[in-house]
Amino acid sequence: MNTLLIIGGVILGLIFLVFIGVVVYLSQKGKNQPPSFGLVEEKYYVCSKHQLLDGGVFGKGPKLKFPVEDSELVCPRDEWEEINKKKFKKLATKWYGKDWNSEVDFWKK
Ligand SMILES: [Zn+2]
Repeated sequence: MNTLLIIGGVILGLIFLVFIGVVVYLSQKGKNQPPSFGLVEEKYYVCSKHQLLDGGVFGKGPKLKFPVEDSELVCPRDEWEEINKKKFKKLATKWYGKDWNSEVDFWKK
């Protein structure tokens, strides 16, 4: 009986640790993301300093990041400036030669 209680306690402890880990990971990750990180809303951001773009429907998609989707490059939140979709598309083409015709309809408008 005692053994079962100990095993149960250890398992609960581990679940708790994993939970804390995920929360810390997400909050750290969010720190260097545009303000819409973790929300569902259509927004477009640019960091002119590092020429990074991040925009689309946050939390749901379609969404794109430039220069690469899984960029290890992150910018402090105050470097992200909100822009409109038109400017976002224009900058992606200008900086990274993005061809919007190969994207889904969402991006063609
Ligand atoms: Zn930056």
